Amino acid sequence: MAKWVYLFKEGKADMKNLLGGKGANLAEMTNLGLPIPQGFTVTTEACTDYYNNNKTISDEIKGQIFDALRNLEEQQGKKFGDTENPLLVSVRSGARASMPGMMDTILNLGLNDVAVEGFAKKTGNSRFAYDSYRRFIQMFSDVVMEISKSKFERVLDEIKEKKGVHYDNDLTAEDLKDVIAQFKALYREEKGTDFPQEPAEQLIEAITAVFRSWDNPRAIYYRRMNDIPGDWGTAVNVQAMVFGNMGDTSGTGVAFTRNPSTGEAKIYGEYLINAQGEDVVAGIRTPQPITRLHEDMPEVYDEFMRIANLLEEHYKDMQDMEFTIEDKKLYFLQTRNGKRTAAAALKIACDLVDEGKITKEEAVKRIDAKSLDQLLHPAFDQAALKAATPIGSALPASPGAAAGRVYFTADEAKEHHDQGERVILVRLETSPEDIEGMHASEGILTVRGGMTSHAAVVARGMGTCCVSGCGEIKINEEAKYFTLGGETIKEGDYISLDGSTGKIYVGDLPTEEATISGNFDRLMQWADEIRTLKVRTNADTPEDAANAVKFGAEGIGLCRTEHMFFNEDRIPKIRKMILSKTVEAREAALEELIPFQKGDFKGIYEAMEGRPVTIRFLDPPLHEFVPTNEEDIKELANDMGLTVEEVKATCDSLHEFNPMMGHRGCRLAVTYPEIAKMQTRAVMEAAIEVKNEKGYDIVPEIMIPLVGEKRELKFVKDVVVETAEKVIAEYGSDIKYMVGTMIEIPRACLLANEIAEEAEFFSFGTNDLTQMTFGFSRDDAGKFLDSYYSNKIYESDPFARLDQEGIGQLVQMAAEKGRSTSPNLKLGICGEHGGDPSTIEFCHKVGLNYVSCSPYRVPIARLAAAQAVLNNK
Ligand code: PEP
Ligand code: MG
Repeated sequence: MAKWVYLFKEGKADMKNLLGGKGANLAEMTNLGLPIPQGFTVTTEACTDYYNNNKTISDEIKGQIFDALRNLEEQQGKKFGDTENPLLVSVRSGARASMPGMMDTILNLGLNDVAVEGFAKKTGNSRFAYDSYRRFIQMFSDVVMEISKSKFERVLDEIKEKKGVHYDNDLTAEDLKDVIAQFKALYREEKGTDFPQEPAEQLIEAITAVFRSWDNPRAIYYRRMNDIPGDWGTAVNVQAMVFGNMGDTSGTGVAFTRNPSTGEAKIYGEYLINAQGEDVVAGIRTPQPITRLHEDMPEVYDEFMRIANLLEEHYKDMQDMEFTIEDKKLYFLQTRNGKRTAAAALKIACDLVDEGKITKEEAVKRIDAKSLDQLLHPAFDQAALKAATPIGSALPASPGAAAGRVYFTADEAKEHHDQGERVILVRLETSPEDIEGMHASEGILTVRGGMTSHAAVVARGMGTCCVSGCGEIKINEEAKYFTLGGETIKEGDYISLDGSTGKIYVGDLPTEEATISGNFDRLMQWADEIRTLKVRTNADTPEDAANAVKFGAEGIGLCRTEHMFFNEDRIPKIRKMILSKTVEAREAALEELIPFQKGDFKGIYEAMEGRPVTIRFLDPPLHEFVPTNEEDIKELANDMGLTVEEVKATCDSLHEFNPMMGHRGCRLAVTYPEIAKMQTRAVMEAAIEVKNEKGYDIVPEIMIPLVGEKRELKFVKDVVVETAEKVIAEYGSDIKYMVGTMIEIPRACLLANEIAEEAEFFSFGTNDLTQMTFGFSRDDAGKFLDSYYSNKIYESDPFARLDQEGIGQLVQMAAEKGRSTSPNLKLGICGEHGGDPSTIEFCHKVGLNYVSCSPYRVPIARLAAAQAVLNNK
């Protein structure tokens, strides 16, 4: 028979997978001989069984629960539902990874009409006993039976008003009996049955509710944000109650062994005298700092500090502890490695190394790579953030804290920015033409789009805060206002965006500059010593490139050349090129673009100081460049000596039903080789000139996008090679260069052995590879993916975290096939996934040479690459 239930004394700290974090630590503390109210853990496997078993707890599991309960009764010398000395328990969730506040808890379980009298007698405090019962009815009804808490609050308020008292604490035992009677009546009204009096039934219902809460919407969301698999399930801990609300010699609190926001090595916490756990959290009374306990109850304080130190020493990490004092006797209810800010995490890790408690490797392993984001962007003032209520939320597409005035067009955003205002650009969706307005903005909010939509990619590249895909916004761009969460925001009004959580606030929340402390640098050095993957960056401008180098980038893995054409003085020229009717006219137009493109490349080479640079040739469908408004069309027609109608007709002819699968990528160079020629010339001339001027040993890497066939690559490569050789001869240079391809079409993965015969490197474009393999658009998937998460079809956004099961197979296959014909093939990834820690671990495992990500994710990637080594030793 499987073992579904463990007494605390039967478990250990390393049984987290089975007992959950809380259960495993309660077991460990029991073994350490610490004062823990005893109890038992129903395992995560029982939770999985519950879900597999049509959401019922099997008789076998129930049997083991009651056996454990009898054991607990004996050990406590109390009985469930007893009229003399009833056993009361708490029922609390506890998953493998801590998910604070996401799941449910029930306290004081075991009380009923009879037991409450026994409890009153035993404690000699009937007010306390009835108060515990009314709290239990309220909590059980809310958590287990899903009757709204507010209905009970209303009853309580009415009675308080009738009795002329202000606080719950002022109600007498008799008043509370009244409250209980009305609560039970309310329960009957809502449920059509009486409040369950049988403690065994209460217990099974409560355990069921905790299992059920594993799948509540906020838990699903939390798992998605933190990469926690949905099939782990939660354990349930049933623990004898101790009471912090038995008078002035009792209390309850929460403490950390070090400061969780700064990392300072000093106890940090608070407690309330005469209170139960939820009172501390609810913030009705202001708790005392933990140091005050030294004055209130010196012996308890000393004992508390002794155990706190012992726990930190034992777990060798900062602990987050819950404790209760019942009539001067101290109990620990929980300990876990405390959640902390990134700054605190770095300080604590470095301090623990200096204190000789952990190794550098352990320190590197401990930091949540994603959390480093917090250190790289300005952040909201924490107190202001806590006090504010969001009006809505959407995808946290690019981290950061942004506050400014709302504008609805890129031009207006830019104009007001130029006048010295902080602006937030709010758009239905952004287009490449918005780039300047986006750049001028503190933050970007879009109604449509996912994590790899244009707005998100560009914003991350620029390090600009972006919240995207907020479908709840009703936007009226003409009348210049939007509504969200019952608020109407007009042009010029202030809003604040939290790009790390996706939350949207009204008003101008204050921010504080990011400070990168010395610990950050120290830990990054340790990570660099460990990792084997190189980390490059996706950068399109010299500024982005320089920024990325500051963060430790070792090269550019993707320079998207099309972004260079969107600014004001260049777009007319590319439009001219597109509208040209002959090769000669097109070449003439391209000739005008060379100086710009070459200038950009020179700037980038200089910023990279000889580090490798991969330049990706023109990729988007041409219609993205053509004018859409009347004025621009007129101007272009004038410029080219065409009629407005002729220009419109050409623009219309570029229309495609499915542009993402249309005339883009290397297909542009196949139909217009002169584009590839112009780009090659610019790449090579720039490289040779910078090499000659600065002495950097530059080897440009020219990358052809969207290849699906060897001959297609060869065709474009021949154009590139011919032009490059010509330029080299003209300059009399000895420069080397490489030609490679993006792997972003499933067919390219299948035939990677052939394609590798024409490529010196592969870079996985996992944005397109994901789009093409799943068969849904990277710009539109946001519209339906939410239903996929809530229905547990997908657990995470496949555009943010590589789908290792599916797309991963293609990547691995292409890597192996590619190297089978070209053993020295250099392999990298440059899709958005290149900055995602779990994807980075995958890339390490399949033997890629580097990952490439936006500048602000470079430190994250450096750390994740080191963690990949440590996790796979
Ligand atoms: C990709 O497809 O993953 C990629 C990096 O190219 P882009 O995002 O520019 O299409
Ligand atoms: Mg692509």
